[in-house]
Amino acid sequence: MDGIAIEVQNLKKSYGDLEAVAGIDVQVRQGEVYSLLGPNGAGKTTTVEILEGYRERTSGEVNVLGYDPARGERSFKQRIGIVLQSTGVEPYLTVEEVVELHRGYYPSPRPLDEVIEVVELTAKRKSRVGKLSGGQQRRLDVAVGLAGDPELLFLDEPTTGFDPSARRHAWAMVKNLQALGKTVFLTTHYMDEAQNLADRAAIIVGGRIVAEGPPGTLGGRAEAPTSVTFQLPPHAPPLPEHLHPHVSSSRGVHLEATEPMKTLHDLTGWALEHDVELESLSVARPSLEDVYLSLTGEPSDAAASSPAVPAGERPT
Ligand code: ATP
Repeated sequence: MDGIAIEVQNLKKSYGDLEAVAGIDVQVRQGEVYSLLGPNGAGKTTTVEILEGYRERTSGEVNVLGYDPARGERSFKQRIGIVLQSTGVEPYLTVEEVVELHRGYYPSPRPLDEVIEVVELTAKRKSRVGKLSGGQQRRLDVAVGLAGDPELLFLDEPTTGFDPSARRHAWAMVKNLQALGKTVFLTTHYMDEAQNLADRAAIIVGGRIVAEGPPGTLGGRAEAPTSVTFQLPPHAPPLPEHLHPHVSSSRGVHLEATEPMKTLHDLTGWALEHDVELESLSVARPSLEDVYLSLTGEPSDAAASSPAVPAGERPT
């Protein structure tokens, strides 16, 4: 386990006839932020709860910080921190009382003020939990997970209900944790969260991992064609044949460029020659969301609303 925080081999979990986790392999290095992405029912919670020791596996090897989580050892629980989707912490306690209570469960907890500060609840430290907003309660959940100063933190959809500014603060907090050498295992539905935080991400669908890697290259993103999009003015001449394949819609023209420099050179050369303004010109690699949608089989808006038309036809 040298340098490895989590090692999972051929993990399976069945509920009756349903194989919720169908033989996955996962390896997470110490100090890494690893994200598990997947649609509802994909097997994320089942996997995470097996790693945390809260669910029994059907078969496979699981090693977390050198422990088999299924044994439920106290020393194991002291070294991990868990942020569940909803913890339902005691509504009549104040923020600082809740954090203090949870700090008391651990041999070397993180300082109280620091935990509260890191989740941006200093102004609310004397407030009762029942009076907090949904986003503030989720931040308190993160504080509870942090209280024991764990070396491995499980964050199950940690920013659901956060406003954009609170999410940014939570992301900064995760980065701080990583800077301190913590390992973070994160499940999320937010692609931008995985993109921003994860060193590596895995996409799980139907209990199987269908792609794994750094978010920037996941699912062949690095090799996928670049999207060039722009608007043509109403009376522009047809695009040349070789700028193909492309699709046009009310939102403009979309080219798939395998050689983006050459495509841009040809396109802008053609536009200058014909005195055509390419409005809203943008160049983008497929987003993590595009990859996710194609791997999980969910339709993407762009694909659904951009019918292919032959080269040379005008956008409608
Ligand atoms: P979500 O994003 O909705 O939380 P998930 O990826 O976490 O989904 P799981 O909760 O792990 O998915 O569920 C995987 C599959 O196992 C689902 O089909 C679910 O209905 C089923 N399942 C989960 N827990 C149980 C259980 N205790 N008994 C029977 N089936 C279960």
